[in-house]
Amino acid sequence: MPDCGSQVVLCDVPVRFDTYKGCSHNCKYCFVKRWKDINDIEKGETSKALLNFITGQRAQVVNWCDWNIPLHWGGMSDPFQPAEKIHKLSYECLKVFAETQYPFIVSTKGKLIVDNEYLTLLRKCNCVVQISMVCSQYDILEQGAPTFEERLEMVKILAQNVKRVNIRIQPYMTQVFKDVKENIKRFAEAGAHGIIVEGMKFAKRKKGLVKVGADFVYEKNILKTHFEQLKEEAHKYGLKFYVGENRLRTMGDEMCCCGIENMSNFKENTYNLCHILNNKDYEVTEAMKKPDTAICFTSLYQSTLGHESIKGKSFEDYMIEEYKRKPKIYNEIFGKEK
Ligand code: SF4
Repeated sequence: MPDCGSQVVLCDVPVRFDTYKGCSHNCKYCFVKRWKDINDIEKGETSKALLNFITGQRAQVVNWCDWNIPLHWGGMSDPFQPAEKIHKLSYECLKVFAETQYPFIVSTKGKLIVDNEYLTLLRKCNCVVQISMVCSQYDILEQGAPTFEERLEMVKILAQNVKRVNIRIQPYMTQVFKDVKENIKRFAEAGAHGIIVEGMKFAKRKKGLVKVGADFVYEKNILKTHFEQLKEEAHKYGLKFYVGENRLRTMGDEMCCCGIENMSNFKENTYNLCHILNNKDYEVTEAMKKPDTAICFTSLYQSTLGHESIKGKSFEDYMIEEYKRKPKIYNEIFGKEK
Protein backbone atom coordinates (compact mmCIF):
# COMPACT_ATOMS: atom_id res chain seq x y z
CA MET A 1 0.00 0.00 0.00
CA PRO A 2 1.40 3.49 -0.77
CA ASP A 3 3.22 4.73 2.30
CA CYS A 4 4.20 7.99 3.95
CA GLY A 5 7.15 8.41 6.29
CA SER A 6 9.55 11.04 7.58
CA GLN A 7 9.54 12.99 4.29
CA VAL A 8 6.11 14.33 5.29
CA VAL A 9 7.78 17.23 7.16
CA LEU A 10 9.64 18.48 4.09
CA CYS A 11 8.05 17.17 0.91
CA ASP A 12 4.88 18.30 -0.89
CA VAL A 13 4.40 14.87 -2.46
CA PRO A 14 5.26 12.56 0.44
CA VAL A 15 3.11 9.53 -0.39
CA ARG A 16 5.46 7.01 -2.01
CA PHE A 17 5.03 3.84 -3.92
CA ASP A 18 7.62 1.33 -5.15
CA THR A 19 7.02 -1.69 -7.36
CA TYR A 20 10.46 -3.16 -6.53
CA LYS A 21 12.78 -3.46 -3.58
CA GLY A 22 16.42 -3.23 -4.62
CA CYS A 23 17.72 -1.74 -7.85
CA SER A 24 20.10 -3.15 -10.44
CA HIS A 25 21.15 0.31 -11.66
CA ASN A 26 23.39 0.14 -8.61
CA CYS A 27 24.39 3.83 -8.64
CA LYS A 28 27.48 4.41 -6.51
CA TYR A 29 25.84 7.35 -4.75
CA CYS A 30 22.49 5.62 -4.07
CA PHE A 31 21.28 6.74 -0.65
CA VAL A 32 19.14 3.60 -0.23
CA LYS A 33 22.41 1.64 0.10
CA ARG A 34 23.03 3.34 3.42
CA TRP A 35 20.56 1.07 5.16
CA LYS A 36 19.78 -1.68 2.69
CA ASP A 37 21.51 -4.07 0.27
CA ILE A 38 19.98 -3.09 -3.07
CA ASN A 39 21.49 -6.01 -5.01
CA ASP A 40 18.64 -8.37 -4.14
CA ILE A 41 15.84 -7.34 -6.43
CA GLU A 42 12.52 -8.32 -4.95
CA LYS A 43 8.95 -7.64 -5.93
CA GLY A 44 7.48 -4.61 -4.20
CA GLU A 45 3.96 -3.25 -4.21
CA THR A 46 1.32 -4.59 -6.53
CA SER A 47 -1.34 -3.14 -8.80
CA LYS A 48 -3.94 -4.51 -6.35
CA ALA A 49 -2.50 -2.46 -3.47
CA LEU A 50 -2.38 0.55 -5.77
CA LEU A 51 -6.01 0.15 -6.78
CA ASN A 52 -7.03 -0.24 -3.13
CA PHE A 53 -5.36 3.08 -2.35
CA ILE A 54 -6.90 4.81 -5.32
CA THR A 55 -10.38 3.57 -4.44
CA GLY A 56 -10.11 5.00 -0.95
CA GLN A 57 -8.47 2.39 1.29
CA ARG A 58 -5.82 4.35 3.12
CA ALA A 59 -3.32 2.93 5.59
CA GLN A 60 -3.13 4.76 8.93
CA VAL A 61 0.01 6.61 7.82
CA VAL A 62 -1.96 8.40 5.11
CA ASN A 63 -5.23 9.00 6.98
CA TRP A 64 -4.41 12.75 7.10
CA CYS A 65 -4.87 12.97 3.34
CA ASP A 66 -8.49 13.45 2.20
CA TRP A 67 -7.88 14.20 -1.46
CA ASN A 68 -6.27 12.44 -4.41
CA ILE A 69 -2.71 13.43 -3.64
CA PRO A 70 -0.35 12.58 -6.53
CA LEU A 71 1.67 9.46 -5.81
CA HIS A 72 5.43 9.55 -6.06
CA TRP A 73 6.47 6.31 -7.75
CA GLY A 74 10.06 5.09 -7.77
CA GLY A 75 11.77 6.89 -4.90
CA MET A 76 13.52 3.83 -3.44
CA SER A 77 14.04 1.68 -6.56
CA ASP A 78 13.62 2.08 -10.30
CA PRO A 79 10.19 0.89 -11.56
CA PHE A 80 11.57 0.33 -15.08
CA GLN A 81 14.81 -1.48 -14.21
CA PRO A 82 15.54 -4.76 -16.10
CA ALA A 83 13.69 -6.90 -13.49
CA GLU A 84 10.48 -5.30 -14.76
CA LYS A 85 10.88 -7.32 -17.98
CA ILE A 86 10.33 -10.47 -15.95
CA HIS A 87 7.82 -9.41 -13.30
CA LYS A 88 5.82 -6.70 -15.10
CA LEU A 89 4.60 -5.18 -11.82
CA SER A 90 5.05 -1.64 -13.14
CA TYR A 91 3.21 -2.53 -16.35
CA GLU A 92 0.23 -3.75 -14.33
CA CYS A 93 0.31 -0.55 -12.26
CA LEU A 94 0.38 1.57 -15.40
CA LYS A 95 -2.83 -0.16 -16.49
CA VAL A 96 -4.46 0.90 -13.19
CA PHE A 97 -3.17 4.44 -13.53
CA ALA A 98 -4.43 4.65 -17.12
CA GLU A 99 -7.88 3.35 -16.19
CA THR A 100 -8.34 5.50 -13.09
CA GLN A 101 -6.55 8.66 -14.31
CA TYR A 102 -5.05 8.94 -10.81
CA PRO A 103 -2.23 11.54 -10.85
CA PHE A 104 1.35 10.37 -10.30
CA ILE A 105 4.98 11.32 -10.70
CA VAL A 106 7.35 8.57 -11.72
CA SER A 107 11.14 8.76 -11.42
CA THR A 108 13.28 6.50 -13.57
CA LYS A 109 16.48 5.90 -15.49
CA GLY A 110 15.15 2.64 -16.97
CA LYS A 111 14.96 2.16 -20.74
CA LEU A 112 11.89 -0.01 -20.55
CA ILE A 113 9.74 3.07 -20.10
CA VAL A 114 10.13 3.86 -23.79
CA ASP A 115 9.15 0.38 -25.03
CA ASN A 116 6.04 0.59 -27.15
CA GLU A 117 3.76 -1.35 -24.81
CA TYR A 118 4.69 1.00 -21.94
CA LEU A 119 4.37 4.14 -24.03
CA THR A 120 0.91 3.05 -25.14
CA LEU A 121 -0.22 3.05 -21.51
CA LEU A 122 1.73 6.15 -20.50
CA ARG A 123 0.00 8.16 -23.22
CA LYS A 124 -3.30 7.46 -21.43
CA CYS A 125 -2.00 8.35 -17.95
CA ASN A 126 -2.23 11.58 -15.98
CA CYS A 127 1.45 11.67 -15.11
CA VAL A 128 4.68 13.58 -14.91
CA VAL A 129 7.81 11.59 -15.78
CA GLN A 130 11.12 12.48 -14.17
CA ILE A 131 14.28 11.21 -15.81
CA SER A 132 17.25 11.33 -13.46
CA MET A 133 20.35 12.42 -15.34
CA VAL A 134 23.21 14.77 -14.54
CA CYS A 135 25.90 14.50 -17.24
CA SER A 136 28.11 11.91 -19.01
CA GLN A 137 30.73 12.11 -16.27
CA TYR A 138 28.25 10.23 -14.08
CA ASP A 139 28.11 7.18 -16.40
CA ILE A 140 30.93 5.63 -14.42
CA LEU A 141 28.89 6.00 -11.23
CA GLU A 142 25.75 4.51 -12.78
CA GLN A 143 27.10 1.41 -14.49
CA GLY A 144 23.86 -0.57 -14.28
CA ALA A 145 21.80 2.19 -15.89
CA PRO A 146 21.52 3.51 -19.47
CA THR A 147 24.17 6.13 -20.24
CA PHE A 148 23.47 9.85 -20.08
CA GLU A 149 23.19 10.01 -23.88
CA GLU A 150 20.79 7.06 -23.94
CA ARG A 151 18.63 8.78 -21.35
CA LEU A 152 18.59 11.94 -23.43
CA GLU A 153 17.17 9.87 -26.30
CA MET A 154 14.54 8.54 -23.87
CA VAL A 155 13.57 12.11 -22.97
CA LYS A 156 13.01 12.90 -26.66
CA ILE A 157 10.65 9.94 -27.05
CA LEU A 158 8.82 10.59 -23.78
CA ALA A 159 8.33 14.27 -24.55
CA GLN A 160 6.30 13.20 -27.61
CA ASN A 161 4.19 10.75 -25.65
CA VAL A 162 3.50 11.93 -22.09
CA LYS A 163 2.03 15.09 -20.62
CA ARG A 164 5.26 16.32 -19.05
CA VAL A 165 8.91 15.29 -18.64
CA ASN A 166 11.24 16.85 -16.09
CA ILE A 167 14.95 16.25 -15.73
CA ARG A 168 16.16 15.44 -12.25
CA ILE A 169 19.73 16.71 -11.87
CA GLN A 170 20.37 14.84 -8.69
CA PRO A 171 22.65 14.28 -6.90
CA TYR A 172 24.42 17.38 -8.18
CA MET A 173 28.15 17.63 -7.49
CA THR A 174 29.86 20.97 -7.86
CA GLN A 175 32.71 19.65 -10.04
CA VAL A 176 30.30 18.97 -12.94
CA PHE A 177 28.85 22.49 -13.03
CA LYS A 178 30.20 23.28 -16.51
CA ASP A 179 28.82 20.07 -18.06
CA VAL A 180 25.42 20.53 -16.43
CA LYS A 181 25.19 24.10 -17.62
CA GLU A 182 26.06 23.06 -21.17
CA ASN A 183 23.47 20.26 -21.09
CA ILE A 184 20.56 22.55 -20.26
CA LYS A 185 20.12 23.61 -23.88
CA ARG A 186 20.07 19.95 -24.90
CA PHE A 187 17.37 19.17 -22.29
CA ALA A 188 15.25 21.95 -23.74
CA GLU A 189 15.79 20.72 -27.31
CA ALA A 190 14.81 17.21 -26.22
CA GLY A 191 11.41 18.56 -25.11
CA ALA A 192 11.75 18.66 -21.32
CA HIS A 193 9.47 20.95 -19.32
CA GLY A 194 11.91 21.77 -16.53
CA ILE A 195 14.94 20.79 -14.50
CA ILE A 196 15.13 19.90 -10.81
CA VAL A 197 18.43 20.36 -8.97
CA GLU A 198 19.51 18.98 -5.63
CA GLY A 199 22.99 18.77 -4.14
CA MET A 200 24.75 15.53 -3.19
CA LYS A 201 24.34 14.33 0.38
CA PHE A 202 27.49 12.58 1.52
CA ALA A 203 27.46 10.03 4.33
CA LYS A 204 31.01 10.91 5.40
CA ARG A 205 32.72 14.15 6.30
CA LYS A 206 34.87 15.65 3.51
CA LYS A 207 36.80 18.87 3.25
CA GLY A 208 34.58 21.82 2.36
CA LEU A 209 31.33 20.12 3.42
CA VAL A 210 29.07 21.09 6.29
CA LYS A 211 26.87 18.85 8.42
CA VAL A 212 23.13 19.32 8.05
CA GLY A 213 20.98 16.81 9.91
CA ALA A 214 22.69 13.44 9.43
CA ASP A 215 24.33 14.37 6.11
CA PHE A 216 27.44 16.17 4.94
CA VAL A 217 26.54 18.65 2.22
CA TYR A 218 27.90 21.58 0.22
CA GLU A 219 27.77 24.97 1.83
CA LYS A 220 24.53 26.72 1.07
CA ASN A 221 26.19 29.73 -0.56
CA ILE A 222 28.26 27.58 -2.91
CA LEU A 223 25.15 25.78 -4.13
CA LYS A 224 23.27 29.06 -4.34
CA THR A 225 25.88 30.53 -6.67
CA HIS A 226 25.74 27.45 -8.91
CA PHE A 227 21.95 27.27 -8.89
CA GLU A 228 21.59 30.95 -9.77
CA GLN A 229 23.56 30.37 -12.95
CA LEU A 230 21.72 27.14 -13.77
CA LYS A 231 18.40 28.89 -13.25
CA GLU A 232 19.37 31.68 -15.61
CA GLU A 233 20.43 29.15 -18.22
CA ALA A 234 17.21 27.14 -17.79
CA HIS A 235 15.08 30.25 -18.25
CA LYS A 236 17.15 31.27 -21.28
CA TYR A 237 16.01 28.07 -22.99
CA GLY A 238 12.41 28.22 -21.75
CA LEU A 239 12.75 25.56 -19.06
CA LYS A 240 11.24 25.78 -15.60
CA PHE A 241 13.66 25.59 -12.70
CA TYR A 242 12.94 23.69 -9.48
CA VAL A 243 15.09 23.15 -6.40
CA GLY A 244 14.92 19.88 -4.47
CA GLU A 245 17.52 21.15 -2.01
CA ASN A 246 15.55 21.98 1.14
CA ARG A 247 17.80 24.90 2.15
CA LEU A 248 17.24 26.60 -1.21
CA ARG A 249 13.74 25.49 -2.17
CA THR A 250 12.51 29.07 -2.53
CA MET A 251 14.97 29.60 -5.40
CA GLY A 252 12.76 27.40 -7.55
CA ASP A 253 10.03 28.74 -9.81
CA GLU A 254 7.62 26.78 -7.59
CA MET A 255 7.88 25.53 -4.01
CA CYS A 256 6.97 22.00 -5.09
CA CYS A 257 10.17 20.70 -6.69
CA CYS A 258 8.45 17.92 -8.65
CA GLY A 259 7.34 20.30 -11.39
CA ILE A 260 3.61 19.53 -11.34
CA GLU A 261 2.13 23.06 -11.43
CA ASN A 262 -0.88 23.55 -13.67
CA MET A 263 -1.30 19.82 -14.28
CA SER A 264 -4.94 18.76 -14.16
CA ASN A 265 -5.93 17.09 -10.83
CA PHE A 266 -2.44 17.44 -9.37
CA LYS A 267 -2.79 18.87 -5.87
CA GLU A 268 0.21 18.59 -3.58
CA ASN A 269 0.31 18.91 0.22
CA THR A 270 1.37 22.39 1.31
CA TYR A 271 1.06 21.83 5.04
CA ASN A 272 4.64 20.93 5.92
CA LEU A 273 7.61 22.60 7.64
CA CYS A 274 9.13 23.70 4.34
CA HIS A 275 6.11 25.90 3.57
CA ILE A 276 5.56 26.94 7.19
CA LEU A 277 9.18 28.01 7.84
CA ASN A 278 9.41 29.84 4.54
CA ASN A 279 6.15 31.72 5.20
CA LYS A 280 4.64 30.30 2.05
CA ASP A 281 0.93 29.62 1.63
CA TYR A 282 -0.28 26.39 3.13
CA GLU A 283 -3.61 24.70 3.58
CA VAL A 284 -4.82 22.55 6.46
CA THR A 285 -7.56 20.16 5.34
CA GLU A 286 -10.41 18.78 7.50
CA ALA A 287 -8.78 15.34 7.78
CA MET A 288 -5.56 16.89 9.13
CA LYS A 289 -7.46 18.37 12.07
CA LYS A 290 -8.80 15.01 13.26
CA PRO A 291 -7.27 13.07 16.17
CA ASP A 292 -5.01 10.13 15.35
CA THR A 293 -3.91 11.49 11.97
CA ALA A 294 -0.26 12.00 12.98
CA ILE A 295 0.73 8.31 12.72
CA CYS A 296 3.04 9.02 9.76
CA PHE A 297 5.36 10.86 12.16
CA THR A 298 6.19 7.61 14.01
CA SER A 299 8.82 6.90 11.33
CA LEU A 300 10.81 9.82 12.83
CA TYR A 301 11.14 8.02 16.15
CA GLN A 302 12.68 4.68 17.10
CA SER A 303 11.55 4.75 20.72
CA THR A 304 8.26 3.75 22.30
CA LEU A 305 8.33 7.08 24.12
CA GLY A 306 8.43 8.89 20.77
CA HIS A 307 5.52 6.82 19.48
CA GLU A 308 3.53 7.50 22.65
CA SER A 309 3.94 11.25 22.13
CA ILE A 310 2.18 10.95 18.76
CA LYS A 311 -0.81 8.89 19.86
CA GLY A 312 -4.15 10.67 19.50
CA LYS A 313 -2.60 13.82 17.98
CA SER A 314 -3.80 15.48 14.83
CA PHE A 315 -1.55 15.91 11.79
CA GLU A 316 -2.04 19.67 12.07
CA ASP A 317 -0.86 19.87 15.68
CA TYR A 318 1.95 17.38 15.42
CA MET A 319 3.59 19.15 12.46
CA ILE A 320 4.19 22.15 14.75
CA GLU A 321 5.06 19.99 17.75
CA GLU A 322 7.67 18.17 15.64
CA TYR A 323 9.31 21.51 14.81
CA LYS A 324 9.26 22.63 18.44
CA ARG A 325 10.99 19.42 19.49
CA LYS A 326 13.94 19.99 17.14
CA PRO A 327 14.03 23.65 16.03
CA LYS A 328 17.81 23.65 15.56
CA ILE A 329 17.75 20.66 13.21
CA TYR A 330 14.83 21.93 11.14
CA ASN A 331 16.24 25.45 10.92
CA GLU A 332 19.41 23.88 9.52
CA ILE A 333 17.58 21.60 7.11
CA PHE A 334 15.52 24.47 5.73
CA GLY A 335 18.45 26.87 5.72
CA LYS A 336 16.94 29.39 8.10
CA GLU A 337 19.43 31.92 9.40
CA LYS A 338 20.03 31.82 13.16
S1 SF4 B 1 18.38 4.33 -9.90
FE1 SF4 B 1 17.88 5.30 -7.93
S2 SF4 B 1 17.26 3.59 -6.61
FE2 SF4 B 1 18.33 2.70 -8.37
S3 SF4 B 1 20.43 2.47 -7.65
FE3 SF4 B 1 20.28 4.42 -8.75
S4 SF4 B 1 19.87 5.94 -7.14
FE4 SF4 B 1 19.43 3.90 -6.24
